[in-house]
Amino acid sequence: METFYRDSWVEVNLSAIEYNIKQLRQRLNSETKIYAVVKANAYGHGDERVAKKALESGADGLAVALLDEAVKLRKAGFTAPVLVMGWIRPEDAPLAAEREIAVTVFQEEWLRMVDSSQLSKPLKLHMKWDTGMGRIGIRTTEEMDRILPLIKEQPNFKLEAVFTHFATADEVSLNYFEEQEKRFYKLLSHFERVWSGNVEFHIGNSAASMRFPDRMKQYVRFGISMYGLYPSNAVKEERPIDLKPAFSLQSRLVHVKRLEAQESISYGATYQAENEEWIGTIPLGYADGWIRKLQGMEVLVNGKRHPIVGRICMDQFMIRLDQEYPIGTKVTLIGKQGDEEVTTDEVADYLETINYEVPCMISNRVPRVFIEDGQIVEVNNPVK
Ligand SMILES: *Cc1c(COP(=O)(O)O)cnc(C)c1O
Repeated sequence: METFYRDSWVEVNLSAIEYNIKQLRQRLNSETKIYAVVKANAYGHGDERVAKKALESGADGLAVALLDEAVKLRKAGFTAPVLVMGWIRPEDAPLAAEREIAVTVFQEEWLRMVDSSQLSKPLKLHMKWDTGMGRIGIRTTEEMDRILPLIKEQPNFKLEAVFTHFATADEVSLNYFEEQEKRFYKLLSHFERVWSGNVEFHIGNSAASMRFPDRMKQYVRFGISMYGLYPSNAVKEERPIDLKPAFSLQSRLVHVKRLEAQESISYGATYQAENEEWIGTIPLGYADGWIRKLQGMEVLVNGKRHPIVGRICMDQFMIRLDQEYPIGTKVTLIGKQGDEEVTTDEVADYLETINYEVPCMISNRVPRVFIEDGQIVEVNNPVK
């Protein structure tokens, strides 16, 4: 196993990922299949290892945002269906076809620009319908009528699926969600009149698939909750399935010292000790994604909360300790120590953002350690 030489690391609990997929599996109808969403390096967890675990745990395919991410998975040897949910350049379509990567289509000019003579294999297409997210996709039956003939006339184009994405599936009010559903069914009834051929549908993200399993089609796209996080506080309270967080962030004290009253800490000397205090230094900083806005946030040492004091530096930050601790004492920035826990949600709240952003922002400079049944099974070491 590759090792690393710093005392900060992310732990990714693969058993939790398996647990979360199995929880969703039990809630879905048995015909509904699961795409494990592993875009953005599996939301910062580590895409290849998470993809492997997800497929072993019952996921049927993988979904990413970028062609680059899909090609990376293929190069790593994954043979499962892979879907790119974002736009790709038409000139890259031959690469997608060659690698048997399904791509998202919704533009006439895109379909005209793909040089189908360059396709070595059929190009798998998922047509995107924008039913209210306002991001990508066709919005009207007229657009559909212009696009479908362009797909039909190319024997190398294979329309595998149609999909849409909800903007508010995680909210208490279902008005907009149901408005989107209505638009989807309106487009669907038109589609069924004009298209013959076997096509699958997928509409659900984590929120929709957990909350409304009976309203899902052939596939769901399971992202944030595969990693053990609820998509919103509303869904967390509703708790449609039980989830276990997979991500934790750990470090160790590398220096501990006694400060006299009135002495200061870090750039700008923004923190001044009121009394004599124990101060610990942690080897992680904003270059690791532990951003300066986290000044004042608490971390766990010896099962207790301790505040971050002074400005967070690029590679280090300081905390105020309740007593002296030895060098090497474990510090948990996200995760549990004994009965105490700092959750990803708490960090997100502190930063006035959503939990999705937190594991994504922990940079690749921080090694990912993968744990299965309490054992380390792999280390993603940035120092190659
Ligand atoms: C990211 C993404 C998902 C996954 O959403 P979660 O809320 O993380 O489950 C599903 N579909 C599309 C189109 C996405 O971009």
